[in-house]
Amino acid sequence: MSYKQFLPDEVATIELGARMSALLKPGLLIFLQGDLGAGKTTFARALIQSLGYNGRVKSPTYTLVELYNVSNLCLYHFDFYRFNDPREWIEAGFQECFSAENICLIEWPEKAGGLLPVPDLTIQLNHAENGRNAEIRADTEVGRSLLAQLT
Ligand code: ADP
Ligand code: MG
Repeated sequence: MSYKQFLPDEVATIELGARMSALLKPGLLIFLQGDLGAGKTTFARALIQSLGYNGRVKSPTYTLVELYNVSNLCLYHFDFYRFNDPREWIEAGFQECFSAENICLIEWPEKAGGLLPVPDLTIQLNHAENGRNAEIRADTEVGRSLLAQLT
């Protein structure tokens, strides 16, 4: 099951993140894919701030992970761009974050080399001539139910 939407500008990316924030539940694993500058962090930031987080949401490019406790949720925002070897992800001890209590958003999940669990949703953002093309794919029951509510 998948859903496609054209995002003409940054505001449209932010609105999509905000719409999704209203549907989040503990345990969700969401992959964010797309080239540098495609809008993965913009989407994640909008989602986190729409949950009610008032602080700055910085890109986890250097810290690898940022944790947000907001709206009774524990949300981890990862960026694996800097990983050179998938084993680094195991060594970093991130596996324990993927639990039924937490929500995990992961930029550059492909850098973990297939070691991650199956995501509920994969959000693919691609550069288009005047904006971005978004495609959201659901790969679990929970993901399909969320996507049905979103669309
Ligand atoms: P990533 O995390 O994928 O590397 P960022 O979110 O850090 O990307 O940066 C995306 C850039 O593209 C930002 O400058 C943002 O303002 C812009 N942007 C986001 N969504 C859109 C869109 N739909 N159309 C045009 N520009 C966008
Ligand atoms: Mg980013």
